[in-house]
Amino acid sequence: MGSLTEARFTELVDRGCTACSTKKLVIEAYVEGKFPLIGGEPAGVVTWAYKGETFVDGVFAIRCAACKHEVFADPMCPRCHAPDGLVRALETENAHSVPKECPGCGIDSVTYRAFVPATVLYEGKRAGKARTECDLYDPGYRGIRAECKSCGPFDPREGVCPVCDAPGPIRPQPR
Ligand SMILES: [Zn+2]
Ligand SMILES: [Zn+2]
Ligand SMILES: [Zn+2]
Repeated sequence: MGSLTEARFTELVDRGCTACSTKKLVIEAYVEGKFPLIGGEPAGVVTWAYKGETFVDGVFAIRCAACKHEVFADPMCPRCHAPDGLVRALETENAHSVPKECPGCGIDSVTYRAFVPATVLYEGKRAGKARTECDLYDPGYRGIRAECKSCGPFDPREGVCPVCDAPGPIRPQPR
């Protein structure tokens, strides 16, 4: 788990803002998405690959949607817990090369898996949709691996944390 457990997260969103007591909170998290690419450029809508525990695992800040009061913040990398990992993740560019084609069959249409910083609006336990302003090639965008429809996964990021580039060990991601 990240520094927030699912139980602690539920407690925080249930309680809402501790300053103005609104229930609307903005959750900031590193969220895993599947990005369709053609020739290394975005080519369609991102599909978010998170639910429950996997989402909570990537949370690094919780703010009030009304008064901006900070309910929770953690400067650690949400994936590997490197102490200064979050800033490095958000401010540096993707260290994984974006695939232009599948090395197996040469097709230029592939799916890229990446962690991106996104926000989700919560009202009590009700969660909105993930939103991100972090595009491919922006600082903060973090590639994990690519997938070809016919050949399967290729070019996984190995040996370092995919989010902050810190050397391992990388703990398993909850599913
Ligand atoms: Zn507030
Ligand atoms: Zn990390
Ligand atoms: Zn292929």
